[in-house]
Amino acid sequence: MSELKRDIRYIKGVGPRKSYLLKRLDINTVEDMIWHMPRGYDDRRNIKKIGDLELGEKVTFYGKISGEINISRPRRNLLLTKFNVRDETGSIEIVFFNRAYLKRMLIPGQRVMINGEIKKGYKGLQVTGPIIEKADTQSDNRQCIVPIYPSTDGLSQKELISIQKKALQIVNNSVMEYLPERIIRNHRLCGIKFALHNIHFPISIQALKIAKYRLVFEEFFLLQLGLFNIKGRVLQDKTGIVLKNNDKIDEFIKKLPFALTEAQKSVFREISSDLEKDIPMNRLVQGDVGSGKTIVAIMSLLKAVTNGYQGGFMAPTEILAEQHYLSMKELLEPFGVRVRLLVGSLPKNEKDKTLKEIELGEVDIVVGTHALIQEGVNFCNLALVITDEQHRFGVRQRAVFADKGENPHVLVMTATPIPRTLALILYGDLDISTIDQLPPGRRTIKTYSRTSVNRNRIYDFVKRQLDEGRQAYVVCPLIEESEYMDIQSAIKIADELSTVLLKNYNVALLHGKMPTKEKEKIMAGFKEGNIDVLVSTTVIEVGIDVPNATIMVVESAERFGLTQLHQLRGRVGRGGHQSYCILINNSESVISKRRMDIMQNTADGFIISKKDLQIRGPGEFFGTKQHGLPELKVANLFKHISVLKTVQKEVEKMIAADPNLNLDNYPLLKEKLEQKFCFEEGYSFLS
Ligand code: ADP
Ligand code: MG
Repeated sequence: MSELKRDIRYIKGVGPRKSYLLKRLDINTVEDMIWHMPRGYDDRRNIKKIGDLELGEKVTFYGKISGEINISRPRRNLLLTKFNVRDETGSIEIVFFNRAYLKRMLIPGQRVMINGEIKKGYKGLQVTGPIIEKADTQSDNRQCIVPIYPSTDGLSQKELISIQKKALQIVNNSVMEYLPERIIRNHRLCGIKFALHNIHFPISIQALKIAKYRLVFEEFFLLQLGLFNIKGRVLQDKTGIVLKNNDKIDEFIKKLPFALTEAQKSVFREISSDLEKDIPMNRLVQGDVGSGKTIVAIMSLLKAVTNGYQGGFMAPTEILAEQHYLSMKELLEPFGVRVRLLVGSLPKNEKDKTLKEIELGEVDIVVGTHALIQEGVNFCNLALVITDEQHRFGVRQRAVFADKGENPHVLVMTATPIPRTLALILYGDLDISTIDQLPPGRRTIKTYSRTSVNRNRIYDFVKRQLDEGRQAYVVCPLIEESEYMDIQSAIKIADELSTVLLKNYNVALLHGKMPTKEKEKIMAGFKEGNIDVLVSTTVIEVGIDVPNATIMVVESAERFGLTQLHQLRGRVGRGGHQSYCILINNSESVISKRRMDIMQNTADGFIISKKDLQIRGPGEFFGTKQHGLPELKVANLFKHISVLKTVQKEVEKMIAADPNLNLDNYPLLKEKLEQKFCFEEGYSFLS
């Protein structure tokens, strides 16, 4: 086994404690460590005396801890540590927030190195939350550019740096250049070893730039090649299924309980005209939460069915699939359309029966989850596949779904619009339609950000809504995560609400790990109004539609992305009553505050997702794991757009020269690609 693939404990000095902490950072192997990129650097080549420090500069200085170490707790959730550091020229106050573990290393008289920004305090200059190290290591770090790593409580920068140095020694004899020599030469890239060493411990600013360029180039290059493999070869000319217009659809529209918005009509016209052509449609419909994408999908399905074909509709969760199934059944059965549900948790005999019906063409529309794209699902004559909430699926899943038919039309829907540059990467082959209008009569949801100090008052407010006959959602962060992080789990919150804060109301818990039957029961109970308060994890994030629910409380809202919060918030404000969303923010950080402000002040999902993308970067934004896409560790799709364009041209050239992109001459590159793209079992790269 390559040394890189070894468990991180292979590195000397990494024992159970450190490896446990490193796992929190997703570092399991030596290789993970090497790709744990600095989030910034400290230029410690310029060291100052305390007497010379100036307001606003970012510097390094050395001194002794002088006088008392003052630890206080002015508020719940806030631990202040204050002390002075002195050298022969002067003294300055150092302040830390919530860093209990510092206590161990802070000993009056201890010599320390401080690196941080000089600010104005109450009594003169001050440094808050700097990097602090015992100064006996000063010789190590003096006069160099030092990486700053993303870390976790209990793991110091010094420890990370020392582990990284050892990991990089392993690089020397186990990493081989995997980019083709021609590419390296033409684009004047540095070698991989130089790049890795200098991205962590740059010998100069120039070397850092060169290293970074290489790694950014490489990440985009691998991403683009991988994506080509996923979807590239489907771009060849193909004959599609012509679906003709007919009266049934007009009749269906007339019988709807509401009039379509202009935006819905025009998007359906675009889809309709695609379906009438003999080339397969590839269209993305984007529209804010609640803009009414489902009905557009249903009309498209009806078009397929009235032409004698089958349609498939895939949603990311069972709860959502079921809801879509019920509404389609209600709307379409009067028109003689046969709708079935296919989800993983169906009893075997029921599933087998449905599978047989699908194969024999005794079903017109199948609504389901991932279960739809499993082996053993064979459609008889599939003409249209629709994926709802596309951003929750992988690029490859879309392709697999389409493979269930013979060049069926493909429609994907999302409430998470993305910038054009990204669309080019993810959905390069899609046409885009936008539903840019909400159905009439929707009121803006009043959104408030509060801290948990106000909990009782928040839930008093919830009670008033419940007393008026409304219903409430309480959303909690994922249960899995709470093993690591100190967050209240949904179970605990449901318990607290039903026994204390909302004890006279009917409170129920819903989460993804529950048996399907129970989930169904609870969802039905909430829909019918027998349950007043639904405490849930993010399983309700997408799609759920209960118009009488007018208030949503999000616990630990700082743990969610903005787009996710917007989706969640979209669960209320679906009926005629004024609706509310209360975000409980437990974080003191400026970024959290900024994000909550955006939620309070913005109702437009497009603006929100743009800001989200800027704050978080695309990796987290898309949940790359779901996409099966490698995470970008160095490259940034906003900052490095010009490199991306260079790479795209290069890849186009390669493909033009060799349309099947046979990488047999580049075994190392091929191996790297296979490694980076985490394909499901049974799928081999470039096969
Ligand atoms: P999303 O775009 O978020 O998937 P849905 O399709 O779930 O939104 O629609 C949200 C709600 O709006 C549903 O209850 C749906 O029946 C309703 N709706 C859709 N179109 C209209 C319309 N033109 N007028 C009034 N209500 C509509
Ligand atoms: Mg929807």
